[in-house]
Amino acid sequence: MNLLENIRIILVEPKYAGNIGSVCRAMMNMGITDLALVVPDEHPDWEEARKLACHAGPVLDRIKLFRTLEEAAADCTVVAGTSARTGFYRDHACLPREIAPVVLDSAAHHKAALVFGREDKGLFNEEIAICTHLLNIPSSECYPSLNLSHAVMICCYELFLLAGSGDYKPPRESSPEATGRMRELLFDSWSRMMLETGFCEKEKLDHMMLGLRRIFNRGKLTDNDVKILLGIARQSRWVAAELEKYRNPATP
Ligand code: SAH
Repeated sequence: MNLLENIRIILVEPKYAGNIGSVCRAMMNMGITDLALVVPDEHPDWEEARKLACHAGPVLDRIKLFRTLEEAAADCTVVAGTSARTGFYRDHACLPREIAPVVLDSAAHHKAALVFGREDKGLFNEEIAICTHLLNIPSSECYPSLNLSHAVMICCYELFLLAGSGDYKPPRESSPEATGRMRELLFDSWSRMMLETGFCEKEKLDHMMLGLRRIFNRGKLTDNDVKILLGIARQSRWVAAELEKYRNPATP
């Protein structure tokens, strides 16, 4: 099986059509062809994109458009976000070379995605929160932010090298890895549980959820893991609701 076929590149709100074309070219050079764009309102200038894509028209022709990152990554297991910045909420970033085996392990069974941000503002914290991993390409302190297509190229190059190296052996899993859709279900039910059981106040929920996402994303979550964690949340919410009835009995 060609693992690179299961790798999706997601561009979130790219501003310049030329960059979309250059990304197509970089991807096709590295044998990766699944490109998704998150474009809520505007539509890119496809003619400009095609000029820079050169002979990578086939990648451009099969681009998929989504309204949100959540939708673009819904069927992906590993979702690796990229950021030129490190620091608050971003200090767990790894190198493309470190992430490459994780992405290929995932691509052996399911779709895996690499996510790239806007040319001017990068990825927002809420988008980083959807990612299971975070990547940073080391670069000069004087100007750490790479051109979008150059960042895509470096990441795809590492994947291409590893996939073709012959040393790479895909793992055997008993339960399949959870997809983005499953993980979002889990985070939604845990955030409700934390509120309904009084574990956390509404104002602190977003901060708490970012921490929780990081904990869960530290290891691989399989479908079975998610089912167990959903069960815990369901039962806890039920107990919290029963307690509430007991505390405030409805007046007949
Ligand atoms: N000013 C933005 C930079 C955006 S560059 C910021 O502060 O985040 C556009 C995109 O290219 C980024 O969102 C990221 O996906 C990718 N990128 C650029 N430089 C990168 C780097 N050094 N490491 C990882 N990704 C990078």
